[in-house]
This record gives sequence, C-alpha cells and structure tokens, in this order.
Amino acid sequence: MKIICIGRNYINHAKEMNSPVPEKPVFFLKPDSCIVRNNQPFFYPNFTQNLHHEIEIVVKLDRLGRNISEKFAHRYYNEIGLGIDFTARDLQEECKQKGLPWEISKAFDGSAPISKFTPKTEFEKLENIDFRLEINDQEVQRGNSRDMIFSIDRLIAYVSQFITIRTGDLLFTGTPAGVGPVQIGDRLKGYLNGNLMLDFFVR
Ligand code: MG
Repeated sequence: MKIICIGRNYINHAKEMNSPVPEKPVFFLKPDSCIVRNNQPFFYPNFTQNLHHEIEIVVKLDRLGRNISEKFAHRYYNEIGLGIDFTARDLQEECKQKGLPWEISKAFDGSAPISKFTPKTEFEKLENIDFRLEINDQEVQRGNSRDMIFSIDRLIAYVSQFITIRTGDLLFTGTPAGVGPVQIGDRLKGYLNGNLMLDFFVR
C-alpha cells in the first residue's frame, strides 16, 4: 500500500508557510514503512533538529481505481481517521531551496502515525469534520474539513489521473495552520469531532 499526502490544502497553512494558495492539488507519497499504529510511541529521528507536527484527516481507500471522476469518488472510501504527517522542517527547507525532492524530510520511517478508522456514515457531513491536536494538553492545531481548498472527492479524482488507487491506500488530506515543533517527552493527542483518536508519546 501507499500513502498519498496532500500539501497546502488549507489557506491558513499555505499562508503560514509563505506558500501561494495552489490552483491544483499538490501531492507526494510516503512508503508504508512510515506508518505507526495503535498509539505506539514515535521515535524522534537523529537527523533533524526541527521536527514538526501536521495533524490531518486521513481517508482509507478501499477500492481499485484510476481516472476516477469526482462524482463517483465517494464510492472509493468508507472510513475516516486521523494522522500526523511528521515533517523534518529543517531538511524540507534545505530541499525546497535546492529544488530537490523532499522525501528525506517527509517519508522517513515512522513519519505517519495513524489512528483507528471510523465509518464515514458516522459523520453527519464529510464537509464539516472538526479536528484538533493537543501537545501536553495544550491545543496547537484546529481545523475543519469545510476549510479544505480541495474536497476529498476532488483530491481522489485528481490523484487518480496519475496514480492508480488501491485497496488499503491512505490519503492524508492536508494540515491546517499551527504546525510547529515537537520535543522528546511530548504527549500528542488528536481528536476527530471531539473523539480522542490519537494519543502517543514522542520518545
Ligand atoms: Mg502535511
């Protein structure tokens, strides 16, 4: 399986990164070795001095498809969860400056902790999912799916023009404003519509 991550899908985050608001979705991939499940601890890598959290709504894809039209994209997923797109911001800045791909900053082992998944039927509206991240019980990020620049269905339609979607693939849908560093010893808690979904330590 693969992890498809969307960059800059919330205007307030694009602004805080001094990035233009994209006209088309921006995406990149993480390999399956990034995944951390069941609230296992995240181990701070030794190659960065500035590791950032990015809390994101995650969609579990459960059907094979390519060139999916936006109209039918909802048939390709049934479950929603939460994840962190951990980013070595210092390495990413270096890659951006040099015009290099940024895998070393985003696709390293353990960089994608994910929660359990909830059936999408349990959400009243997919365009109104509230989510937030707390570090040591202080809120650091809060978002709502209504503020996505590109909807989940639009993202699936766009990505599937280039890459076949397979059962079990995950789609990280972008982070809202408030990204920032984590430290060893921090406890991260992620909530989806008020339900605690992620709860793990940085070790
Ligand atoms: Mg992200």
